[in-house]
Amino acid sequence: MAVEAAAGPAKGRTVVRNIGLMLSGDLGRPILDADAILIEDGRIAAIGRLKDLPDAPGAAVIDARGCAVAPGLVDSHVHPVFGDWTPRQNQLGWIESFLNGGVTTMISAGEVHLPGRPRDIVGLKALAIAAQRSFANARIAGAKVLAGAPVLEQGMVESDFADLAAAGVTLLGEVGLGSVKAGYEAREMVAWARKHGIQSTIHTGGPSIPGSGLIDKDTVLEADADIIGHINGGHTALPEGHVCELCERSTRAIEIVHNGNEKIAIAAVQAARDLGQLHRVILGTDSPAGSGVQPLGILRMISLLSSLGGIAPELAVCMATGNTARIRNLDSGLLEAGRAADLVFMDRAQHSAGRDMLDSIRLGDIPGIGMVMVDGAMRCGRSRNTPPAERVPEPLGH
Ligand SMILES: [Zn+2]
Repeated sequence: MAVEAAAGPAKGRTVVRNIGLMLSGDLGRPILDADAILIEDGRIAAIGRLKDLPDAPGAAVIDARGCAVAPGLVDSHVHPVFGDWTPRQNQLGWIESFLNGGVTTMISAGEVHLPGRPRDIVGLKALAIAAQRSFANARIAGAKVLAGAPVLEQGMVESDFADLAAAGVTLLGEVGLGSVKAGYEAREMVAWARKHGIQSTIHTGGPSIPGSGLIDKDTVLEADADIIGHINGGHTALPEGHVCELCERSTRAIEIVHNGNEKIAIAAVQAARDLGQLHRVILGTDSPAGSGVQPLGILRMISLLSSLGGIAPELAVCMATGNTARIRNLDSGLLEAGRAADLVFMDRAQHSAGRDMLDSIRLGDIPGIGMVMVDGAMRCGRSRNTPPAERVPEPLGH
């Protein structure tokens, strides 16, 4: 298991040149007219044409060899426990596998699979704080895992949220996975969480496993959590009309997941598009789960929404990067100066029918990954999980 202390960013400068396609992650300008990135101490210092970048004597050079570069993908909905182990399918190495799928940041929707998960209030607070610390202190394979997402239980009071916030907890686990299931109860706790700077997500749809319950559209609207978690169900979705109504009547983020109903995923993204609100759409896997772990889940969502949902591939990429970064207040997820240099290098998969990478996504294929970088440090070269990319970047040294 590749675990390391949360090291600082890569020191020094790196120039990435010969980038064939620059996918910004920004819906307003998804493709940049640029072929090079200057990285300094793990952050993007400049983006543009190579000839226009500031001089960087002594910089390391990476020849992208015409590959596309996008911000590292963000999985808005995972269920980690500790380290790179998941008890859900008793698997090891799942986070490292996701990194090989281009995911550089994952956000916990609750450490709900911990065997014997505490449901008493002091216990659930302790777990959240321990999980936050564990993933902040140890980077698994270099991936950023934002964890420590307590599941709401009845009896919590405002001071519990103040305590959690003071201890560094910034997320709630999916509302509805604990004993708080009624809209009015959830609404009060979500408001306390928000007041103390803790972001909330609500489970939407039918029960995910025996023991969890239905959260219907009226409960989602009443609870008013910051993120309509897995609006396409996890796995069982609400009726399509209810999902469209949630998109219309709520202003909150619309999270679409791999571990959900694919038909409703497309209905949700098209409802957001028709409302002119694609900026609300963010992507997750909702894994590990009953359907396993999906290292390529975010790439597959991009391909699904593009090929069957009619969303331009460069816009679908934004839903897995910049949209999530803005909604989740991440310092990555967009190719712009000052952001963390979390980058994924991709190209058309070998023998795809698409004429180029974007066209291959439009046709339903997933791209091949040739390199993943976190905070300016290379974390994997040619992905062990994607189909092979036609071209892969080449580090040329200094
Ligand atoms: Zn759920």
